[in-house]
Amino acid sequence: MASIKGLGERLRAMMDLPRDDPRLLRAQYTALGRQLPMMYFILVVNTWVLVATHIHLAPAALTLAMPTVLTAVSIWRTLYWWRRRGIVPDDREVHGALMRTGVLSIPVAVGFTAWALSLYPYGDDYARVHVAFFMAITVIGCIFSMMHLRRAALITTAVVDTAFVFFFINTGVPVLVACAVNILLVSIAMLVILHNHYTTFTRLVAEQARSEQLSDENLRLAHEDSLTGLPNRRQFFIALEQALARARLEGTRLAVGILDLDGFKPINDLYGHSVGDRLLVQVGERLSTLVDRRTRVARLGGDEFALIIEQVESDAQLLAFGQLICQVLAVPITLTDVPVQIGASLGVATFPDRATDAEQAFEFADYALYQSKRSQRGQVSVFSEQHQSQLQRDILTEQALRRADLDAELAVVFQPIIALDGRGTVAFEALARWHSPHLGFVPPGQFIAVAERIGMINQLTVPLLRKALATASQWPAEVRLSFNLSARDCGSPKAAQVLIDVIRASGFDPVRLDLEITETAVMQDLQQVQAVIAMFRGMGCGISLDDFGTGYSSLSQLHALALTKLKVDRSFVSDMHINPASFKIVKSLLALSADMQLDCIVEGVESAQELSALESLGAKLVQGYYFAKPMPAQQTLEWLETPICAIQ
Ligand code: C2E
Ligand code: MG
Ligand code: MG
Repeated sequence: MASIKGLGERLRAMMDLPRDDPRLLRAQYTALGRQLPMMYFILVVNTWVLVATHIHLAPAALTLAMPTVLTAVSIWRTLYWWRRRGIVPDDREVHGALMRTGVLSIPVAVGFTAWALSLYPYGDDYARVHVAFFMAITVIGCIFSMMHLRRAALITTAVVDTAFVFFFINTGVPVLVACAVNILLVSIAMLVILHNHYTTFTRLVAEQARSEQLSDENLRLAHEDSLTGLPNRRQFFIALEQALARARLEGTRLAVGILDLDGFKPINDLYGHSVGDRLLVQVGERLSTLVDRRTRVARLGGDEFALIIEQVESDAQLLAFGQLICQVLAVPITLTDVPVQIGASLGVATFPDRATDAEQAFEFADYALYQSKRSQRGQVSVFSEQHQSQLQRDILTEQALRRADLDAELAVVFQPIIALDGRGTVAFEALARWHSPHLGFVPPGQFIAVAERIGMINQLTVPLLRKALATASQWPAEVRLSFNLSARDCGSPKAAQVLIDVIRASGFDPVRLDLEITETAVMQDLQQVQAVIAMFRGMGCGISLDDFGTGYSSLSQLHALALTKLKVDRSFVSDMHINPASFKIVKSLLALSADMQLDCIVEGVESAQELSALESLGAKLVQGYYFAKPMPAQQTLEWLETPICAIQ
């Protein structure tokens, strides 16, 4: 009883359409659409072959009228499916089409079966066997063709087989009875195969759905920055290519912006990565509020973001937008109890007037950013004609640097540092000079920056330091040497160790050596620089903070470094005697260094007026063209013998 019930349920399940699974319905529809025209083709061909064997035996109603009607129905259905090939309609239509096919299978099966059996009485033994063969083979073809729509396959089998078995067993002809038994068994086996196939088919469709869902999710993740939810680097470049194609087509202007946060790293180091992450999220949110239909923002990685601005009308508009971004990001962000202040520098390049493709637009924007970082932090800088020629110069410098014989081509000049208490020259600052056989004299501001950018600076520092130490070894013991290091020299204990080895090998007393590092170098990686400074201090060297006042260091960060001197940047000194703002800055920088109990050297003194203004503020150590320009090594001893009053 239970097994009959189970069979009943199974049969009902086979008859039902999976209404709640539109994806499966669609897969069935597509598979069926491919196979049904073939089934009707078999039916029509087999029908007319059967007609051929009965044409002279049976009446025209059976050999012409009926087959024509059946063929017309077959052609109508074939055309129906043929016209819909490749088109998948909506869920409702798919369901309707499958329902109709199921229902239609009843008259079609009944029609063909009735027609075939009605031919039986007219033929001889061979013709009768042909009728049986026609029905048996055709039903197998139909079951196979309709295997994706079980209800239709089942209805057809039930109609044809029931009629077949009853009819042929009734004939009492042993061969035909055997055929009836055969076809019954084969049909049952076919239905089992069909059921198994359908189960596999269902599973396959479900798996495909799952993997599609997974790959959709992967695609989304692959294009999204997981921290900020903004598009990531990959998506940025895809969007940039698309935007460029649009700009080309519409003849509009487009801008690419690269934005880098100023002072992010120290915050990350000081407060930890989770605070750093929260900061980046807030930056992302702030940037998102600024974007509109024509602007898109992405996170490239780290503290770098990028913008695509379409339909740029004027440089003024672009500049105003860039400034707005920098202003918005300069507003303090409260993350822990204290609000933290960061800034953002932005480099922008435009298409098609400057860059000609995506790669160049990105490269130019990056270059503008680099310039903005160097000379106007916290501001926007648009890639200009000057940048273009500077970039060209940088490329030439890079090529010449890579093939230079650094030991032979580099030289060191020395600029005196004067104590205003009457002691005269207390130190020299060593400054690099490069005479390239290809480019001639290249200013340090040019080649040092390029060497830093291409990672060659350590190769330059070693011969420069060696040469400076060799000259300084000839000076009286009370004269110190000041030597400039770049960010990369303090970037790792390994790089610092190379320099320590050079100092040791020179025989120069490290206690007489001051190493100058710039504020911007310190800010790049506070913790690393701190460790490296400790190494140098450990061997007795002094550490001077160069270009003080131009960077972003906070007092707490300065305290964390074991500095011995501050060097006030020369930009504050020029005209300080007539510019009250500069005067005030120098005054407070001097007061600050006194508070921190650090010596202070004021750079770039060019006139007697500047000097007397500095003297009035109590400056003790000065350096500048007013006393001497940097001089070659061989002149330093002669200089030391000249009294300062003779030069002033
Ligand atoms: P800096 O370390 O701040 O050096 C001071 C710069 O100001 C030098 O320029 C010097 O010649 C110039 N200067 C000194 N007094 C005056 C003055 O009264 N008026 C004016 N207008 N300028 C004055 P220089 O030699 O062109 O060097 C430029 C920068 O290149 C240096 O700035 C330093 O950052 C870098 N640099 C120079 N030599 C080296 C080096 O051996 N290693 C590294 N890493 N950087 C170096
Ligand atoms: Mg210096
Ligand atoms: Mg300086």
